[in-house]
Amino acid sequence: MSNVAIVTGGTRGIGAAISKGLKAAGYTVAATYAGNTEKAEAFRAETGIHVYKWDVADPQACHDGIAQVVSDLGAVEVLVNNAGITRDGWFHKMDYEQWSSVIRTNLDSMFTMSRPVIDGMRERGHGRIINISSINGQKGQLGQVNYSAAKAGVIGFTKALAAETARKGITVNAICPGYIDTDMVAAVPEKVLEGIIAGIPVGRLGQADEIAAAVVYLASAQAAFMTGAVMTINGGQYYAN
Ligand code: NDP
Repeated sequence: MSNVAIVTGGTRGIGAAISKGLKAAGYTVAATYAGNTEKAEAFRAETGIHVYKWDVADPQACHDGIAQVVSDLGAVEVLVNNAGITRDGWFHKMDYEQWSSVIRTNLDSMFTMSRPVIDGMRERGHGRIINISSINGQKGQLGQVNYSAAKAGVIGFTKALAAETARKGITVNAICPGYIDTDMVAAVPEKVLEGIIAGIPVGRLGQADEIAAAVVYLASAQAAFMTGAVMTINGGQYYAN
């Protein structure tokens, strides 16, 4: 096996922790990013992890980007669909661009990234696809109709693709993080964040490493019987799938 893993949005936040976790587990990692080249180059210099810039919402860019990774590093064994954005606002004030940018980046990316790798995984009889959803895709969150819809869609995508590929040695799973200490959560107003933390039974935000550890497990040979699953990692905030 090639041991190549792609982590979208792999240069910052949860994705950076996943990239580092997979590298430590022996994978050759390609971490993608959207536009923050300064951050991505600093990440590359610090970790030695390969970085690639393309927009996960752009089908052609994904096709070309993945082809470049395969040519540089080898066939893709693990795909972690982690890149995501928020464009929060009350639905009655939400414009179409807020809706569609979140749907494209968080949900269309499941198709645009997974479609180019699936044929190779089927031919080789092995593959791992790990999708980062969210607690807010499970429970719905006010101010995030767009994001909750996209992240709930990620769960449906995961279960359906898992069923289709189970006999081909491919597993497809989703992780639903609760609130994790990254730039995305730093953008939440302080007062709102205090209220959020008060509602987390363990009494703190999660750490990106705590999500990365689950991804490393799902990528491993030991996780071969786990597919179509939704892993909830949220400090006890919400339990249902
Ligand atoms: P960050 O905002 O910290 O990092 C986002 C990463 O995604 C960056 O590397 C960014 O690249 C990349 N990215 C964004 N848009 C695109 C795009 N169109 N194409 C390619 N790459 C893109 O996010 P987090 O680490 O907080 O979140 C990671 C994932 O976890 C997301 O899917 C998020 O929805 C989910 N999540 C996060 C939670 C949290 O509490 N933080 C909770 C639940 C789920 P660049 O650096 O170039 O901008």
